[in-house]
This record gives sequence, structure tokens and C-alpha cells, in this order.
Amino acid sequence: MKIESDRLISLDRAHVWHPYASMVNPTPVFAVVSASGVRIKLADGRVLIDGMASWWCAIHGYNHPHLNAAIEKQLSLMAHVMFGGLTHTPATTLAEQLVAMTPDLLQTVFFSDSGSVAVEVAMKMAIQYWAARGQHGKQKLLSIRQAYHGDTLGAMAVCDPVTGMHTLFNQVLTQQYFADAPKTRFNAKWLEDDIASFSSLLKKQHKHIAAVILEPVVQAAGGMWFYSAQYLKRARQLCDEYNVLLIFDEIATGFGRTGKLFACEHADIAPDIMCVGKALTGGYMTLAATLATRDIADTISDNGNGVFMHGPTFMANPLACAVALASIELLLSGPWQARVESIEAQLQAQLAPCRDLQNVTDVRVLGGIGVVELDKPLDMHTVAHEFVQRGVWIRPFGRLVYIMPPYIIETDDLTTLTSAIYNVVREL
Ligand SMILES: *Cc1c(COP(=O)(O)O)cnc(C)c1O
Repeated sequence: MKIESDRLISLDRAHVWHPYASMVNPTPVFAVVSASGVRIKLADGRVLIDGMASWWCAIHGYNHPHLNAAIEKQLSLMAHVMFGGLTHTPATTLAEQLVAMTPDLLQTVFFSDSGSVAVEVAMKMAIQYWAARGQHGKQKLLSIRQAYHGDTLGAMAVCDPVTGMHTLFNQVLTQQYFADAPKTRFNAKWLEDDIASFSSLLKKQHKHIAAVILEPVVQAAGGMWFYSAQYLKRARQLCDEYNVLLIFDEIATGFGRTGKLFACEHADIAPDIMCVGKALTGGYMTLAATLATRDIADTISDNGNGVFMHGPTFMANPLACAVALASIELLLSGPWQARVESIEAQLQAQLAPCRDLQNVTDVRVLGGIGVVELDKPLDMHTVAHEFVQRGVWIRPFGRLVYIMPPYIIETDDLTTLTSAIYNVVREL
């Protein structure tokens, strides 16, 4: 087993890029042979408890019989057909389901293959909407610092300019507007000053701005920061006041992770456009969707060339749509909210002791997300092995050690994850 695992890793080292990785001085990678429930089995025989849900996705755990069955059933009918001029039950039923479970105003669904593309689609929709209304000057986006919306060029342009490496790509990235990131924590007392920079940018530049794009409540890859829902309420009011569309990127937060089905529910508001992805298929297939209001769809369709200018080859892939439907069915038919609440309570209790460690600057928990922030970046070359040796799969980034386990995780397994965090951070 060890030899097979070593062979696999040396081939990987020779030929395969990993996310945000170096081909010369790579951080450790571990070869996986299978995964089931919350357990990931390595090629060398070790078994890890999963703290990451494969980056927000695997909310029901791995190798779930209900999800497997949905894919197998669809596979026996067809794996894929083009979506230009053809349609199928997995796509129409999934669209109906997404429209039913998101805010009422969102009535139309554009399927794509990844979160970044769903964001590109949202931005193009906003620009086409204003062009259709004769307002060709409204082509810019307003984002906020610490934002993360994906890795394609259009999406990158609305990511935090510093962590998004805008200087490196300055000739190709469109200059967008950036307001200060919200400082008021989730559920903390709101100070109107927190939206001042956002508000003054909109006031000055709204004639050029097609849409505001925000990750509601949780700034995810940009720093795992949980901010006040009041910021979103005020953003909604200001967008209405200045005739700017509001895009919510719910790719990380959607499908229950923050304790609500969608994070916009914390603020009790609806965006004009919403992106979902990640947990959409329960982590099985790559699929994303951009939802928009009927008004946006009709305005684009009734004016100009009358079509929306986007069409991915694998749009609405039937296997992906079928497993997304099965995942949503599983979520809505079970006690997901109680599960996320109990994960939240356990994370609160068990991560609290980390606050007393001298290298820890903050501990925060929201729904099924637990974050321990340190005073300096972790060295992935050593820390990766520390977690694996303790039998857990936790992958920190920068100064953050964080977990967002599958919702099905049992109390004991979650305790193993939180103890590993405490012990690894203490021994740094
Ligand atoms: C992950 C993520 C994306 C990008 O999704 P990909 O599927 O990786 O392209 C966009 N926005 C947010 C908020 C995300 O967390």
C-alpha cells in the first residue's frame, strides 16, 4: 500500500498542478482511494475524518446511497445532451426546485459548470440588463475588500485586489470599484459608519455601476469573516435608491451552511441575481446556477439583440442536475437545520478554549463553520502532516484554521476535529 501510494504521489509531483500550488516546492499531497460518510481513506491505509466537506460541497458526506442511486438512474438514460434547442427533466425539475426554495422574486435559472462561471454570467446579465434599457454606461461592478468570487478573469476583477493579485494581472483585469469590507461582526451592534464607504462610492459612481456583488454574511475564501446582516439590508436599500442591481454570491453559503437555507435570509432581503454552486450537487458533480428576476430576464429578452450572450457546452448536464435534485431532496426531507445548529453549538463550546492560546487572535463560529485565526500564517509543509497524523482532514490557509464538516458528522467525530485543531495550534 505504501509503495502504491508513493508511486502515485511521485507521478502527481511530475505532472499534476494542484490549486494555488507550486510544481517546484509543493506542499504535501495525500493520495485518496475512497471516501464514505465523513471518512476519507488514503492509499497508504490511513483513514481521516473530514473537516472540509471538500470545500463546502459534501454536505451529506461521501458515497451516499441516495445520491449514488440518482446518478446511476440518470446514467442509464443519458449522461449528457447539448442544451441548445434540447431540454430534459433533470434540468426543468431542478430549475423549478431552485426557484421554489430561493426568494420569490428569483424566477429564472441559468445553469453553468462552476461557481466562477456562474459569477461571470451574473455580471454579464447585469450589464446586458442596463444596455437593454439604453444605459450603456452602466458596465462596472462594485465589490468590497476581502471578497472572493472565483478565479476566472471577470470574477477575479471583483475579488480583493491584494489577495486577488490584481497588480500581476493589471493589463487584463477590469478596474472595478471596491468599498471597505464590513467590520461589524454578525449579530453585533450595527454602526451606520460601516457602510459609509460603500454608500459614498455608490453615490458618486452609480451612473457607471451595473451591479453590486456581495457574498452575503460570510466572506469565505477572502478571510472567513462573518459580518452583520444589517450591512446587506442597507446595501439593498442603497442599490434601490441608486438604480443598481444587487448580486448575491451564495456559492459558499447556500444550502444551509450558515444555519439558514440561504444567507440572504439572515437579512430578510432578496437580491436581483443570485449565484449558487458548491453544495448544489452535494459535492458529486461540478454544477452552478445563476438565478435572476423575471424583470431582468424579460428586459434582456425584449431589447437589443434579444438573447443572453452565454452558453456553456456542458450547460445543465443531466447527471449533475439529477444528483443536485437528489441532494436537495435529501437536505429538505431531513432535519438539516437542527444538525447545523448542533454543529454550531459544539463548535462554539469546543473551539472556545483556543481563545486562551497565545498565538490565537480570534475564534468565530457561524452555523456549520468554525474558524480559529492565528497571529501569523501557518507553514503548510509541516502543519499538513500534523493534522493527517491525528487522523483528520483539515486544510488551513494563511492565518486561518477552519472547518466546515458534512452536516451528517457525529458528535465524537466532530470532537476529534476540534481537539486536533486545539492541539496542533497549541504545539505550533
Ligand atoms: C468557491 C467560490 C466561488 C468559485 O467557485 P468555483 O466553483 O471554484 O469556480 C465563487 N464564489 C464564492 C463565494 C466561492 O466560495
